[in-house]
Amino acid sequence: MLPWIGHVKGVPVIWSRPDSIAVLDDQVAQETFSRYWAVIRNDKRAKFLILKEIEVDYNYEDGISDLWLVHDKAMNEFRIILKESDEESRNNSEEKTRKNLLVLKRDIARKILESCHLCEWRCGVNRYENNNGVCRLGKEAYIASIFIHPGEEPELVPSYTIFLSHCNFKCVYCQNWDISQVHSGRVLRPELVADRIYREWLDRQIRNVNWVGGEPTPNIHYILDVLTHLDANVPQIWNSNLYNSIESLKLLEGVIDLWLPDFKYGNNDCALKFSKIPRYFDVVTRNLKMINSFGDEILIRHLVLPNHIDCCSKRVIKWISDNMDKNRVRVNIMAQYRPEYQANKYNEINRRTSIEEWRQVYNYALDLGLNLTI
Ligand code: SF4
Repeated sequence: MLPWIGHVKGVPVIWSRPDSIAVLDDQVAQETFSRYWAVIRNDKRAKFLILKEIEVDYNYEDGISDLWLVHDKAMNEFRIILKESDEESRNNSEEKTRKNLLVLKRDIARKILESCHLCEWRCGVNRYENNNGVCRLGKEAYIASIFIHPGEEPELVPSYTIFLSHCNFKCVYCQNWDISQVHSGRVLRPELVADRIYREWLDRQIRNVNWVGGEPTPNIHYILDVLTHLDANVPQIWNSNLYNSIESLKLLEGVIDLWLPDFKYGNNDCALKFSKIPRYFDVVTRNLKMINSFGDEILIRHLVLPNHIDCCSKRVIKWISDNMDKNRVRVNIMAQYRPEYQANKYNEINRRTSIEEWRQVYNYALDLGLNLTI
């Protein structure tokens, strides 16, 4: 056991992060993410374990539309089992090793790689043959680092962060540009990663598994493969720009216990300028509505950019207030922007966000009654 990690009320905490302890007595934080906390306390099952219980019948050689039919039918069963098992707080996870709904999801993701549309770029490249898509990834996933992160939100830490290299965005101010924009990392067998997660979970050092990057979306086939090898009742977190295709979000329903999407821009133009992404606002709001419709728990991160209060921050906050379920959605309004990477080429973002700018956004969110993290 790492000396800086302990337990309070049966939950891993970080001693140097008193807010990771205080959040255990924060009624709103507990109620908003009640299912997530129940999995950490082993009172409910992580969703991907439920998927493993649902047997499905298919051949990998079938066309992808046939696989989707089997998937969508089996997901109806998943939703019933999820509801029942939550009501009964059942905790028997006798996984079946034959074909199951999680394996089917992984196989559909593998098929999607043949004409890739894991994200909304929908490059259509065959990633078994080349890496010519925007994310520059072929079929392999590259892991830049895996470690127990002490610096995430109080609800999350200690969080087992798995950083995957490459990204489908090209943010000019990226703080992780050395893994998102430059090829790095190692190919690790999924069994090995599953084994490392299992051991950290068994030692009760982590609250969750936090899939991040770069961007996890181009690596969904790999992440699902890791989970087919994992038998730990540990919540899965999707730490992403949420530029997913509808298809990949369908695959992630029933896999992700807590969504951790960025919501960066309040319009398409700023996103195109700073992240080189088309239709950003349209796609991300569509996807936020979709995961909201799953009934899932969501923690939205908004990084306040300097000089972008009216065009971005306030529009983001207003949209969340108008469209998301405050009982299941929290928002973290982040002040830590600093000009990194190529931000010095853009005067308007070539400085830190001021405390006055952050406070303006925070107060606006408070006035609209958003459920804000500590
Ligand atoms: S993950 Fe996105 S960016 Fe990468 S090849 Fe597929 S569609 Fe293109």
